[in-house]
Amino acid sequence: MTTEALAGSVASAASAAYIVAALLFILALAGLSRHESARGGIVYGIAGMAVAMLATLALVIQSTVDGGAPIGLAVLLVAVVLGGAIGLWRTARVEMTGMPQFIALMHSFVGLAAVLIGWNGHLEDAPVAADLVGVHRAEIFIGVFIGAVTFTGSIVAYLKLSARMKSAPLVLPGRNGLNIAALVAFAGLTVWFVITPQMWLLVIVTIVALLLGWHLVASIGGGDMPVVVSMLNSYSGWAAAAAGFLLNNDLLIVTGALVGSSGAYLSYIMCKAMNRSFLNVIFGGYGIHASTGKDGQEELGEAREITAAETTQLLAEAKSVVITPGFGMAVAQAQYPVAELTRQLRDRGVEVRFGIHPVAGRLPGHMNVLLAEAKVPYDIVLEMDEINEDFPDTSVVLVIGANDTVNPAAAEEPDSPIAGMPVLEVWKAEEVVVFKRSMASGYAGVPNPLFHRDNTRMLFGDARDRLDDILRELAEVPEQRQPARRA
Ligand code: NDP
Repeated sequence: MTTEALAGSVASAASAAYIVAALLFILALAGLSRHESARGGIVYGIAGMAVAMLATLALVIQSTVDGGAPIGLAVLLVAVVLGGAIGLWRTARVEMTGMPQFIALMHSFVGLAAVLIGWNGHLEDAPVAADLVGVHRAEIFIGVFIGAVTFTGSIVAYLKLSARMKSAPLVLPGRNGLNIAALVAFAGLTVWFVITPQMWLLVIVTIVALLLGWHLVASIGGGDMPVVVSMLNSYSGWAAAAAGFLLNNDLLIVTGALVGSSGAYLSYIMCKAMNRSFLNVIFGGYGIHASTGKDGQEELGEAREITAAETTQLLAEAKSVVITPGFGMAVAQAQYPVAELTRQLRDRGVEVRFGIHPVAGRLPGHMNVLLAEAKVPYDIVLEMDEINEDFPDTSVVLVIGANDTVNPAAAEEPDSPIAGMPVLEVWKAEEVVVFKRSMASGYAGVPNPLFHRDNTRMLFGDARDRLDDILRELAEVPEQRQPARRA
């Protein structure tokens, strides 16, 4: 086989491999949409990425054999080995509670890569067909803009989610005007760059986009952060697609578009679930009443306490118990004693179910994963909409490390920053016991009137310690009923 024929075969095989990888990515997304098929989805994703990397490696080796500079191959190998090692090292150590900020940090890398690829596209000055020159320049400019917005936006999301920055929204005077001005400037500069591609224009758009990304996410309050995380996921997809156009890489375009559109759709679904306007969140809290982040909990009055022994007595005498877990359960790693308590109460004939809010914790599905890990049966873990109307007939609700997701202010106070967000209506039950360490507010920084209701009592301390206390007490309480029949 001649050298040209071999190069042609490698190029065709790589193109075919890219199509296979794209199909595997689509299967991965389909698999990840349901619990039962999620594991398969991940396997498809890994396989797709392996095929894509091998095909790219083959292309680079071929171009080196054809007389290309070996530095390209060397850089690729070093980047893959180093990046893979750092990725394995970090992911093996990240806690479930640290996953959202970890993902936000990953998005920032995609954004940075898109900025660097755009800059490289401009500096490289590769030959482009005369009729495509304008398109090429627009690709560079748009890629750099989306990448830079994603980069700083993701860093702010990382800082907020890891509590290195306050979760309350930043309220600059005329913030909506600032965002609109940045978008108008971007549109104008793009036209200018397409006509005369000068370096300083690229510098300006990079700075504007970095500031815009920072401002957009800093202006969003803690309660809306789940949507922001999925929105940045979408931005990172579009940044990758823009880089794909520049590098003439079909797989990157397809993958970027898949991530971009699925992230946008997820953001839309989450906005609907939280009764938020999609556009408000995308434009950095446009028109949203900002919370000052000031904790006004003490102004709501006194809260009544309960001991672990008293809680145990309530549970032993209860007919039905609903557990609503939140971020605090993840922090305390209390899912194991929660699962044990569930088992023991069910053995005593108490009906136990779980109510899961769509944004409980710091990641969609966070609570479901923890409960599954502790082997809580799936069939008693219900979504918010499935359990909400059962609260009036529930004897005891255990709110374990949840706060915003059970806040009646969302339903009853139109001026609250979380007004309109659907919540678990736990206050309608006969008795509510809230497990938390202090009277501090939740992630959204909003005071919670639930803690002061007549039927609510606070069980202070680390959730895991208090649950262990309850399990010890329960062992002393004689069984009063026949065990309920298990499904
Ligand atoms: P919250 O953040 O509202 O409340 C968690 C509560 O857990 C706190 O009040 C805290 O109180 C308590 N807590 C923390 N550690 C412990 C512990 N060791 N033992 C006992 N209690 C503890 O959590 P929710 O799950 O109710 O709500 C989720 C919030 O996070 C929402 O505002 C949501 O918008 C936001 N969010 C959700 C994301 C998602 O996709 N799910 C992503 C990003 C943000 P104390 O300190 O007094 O113990």
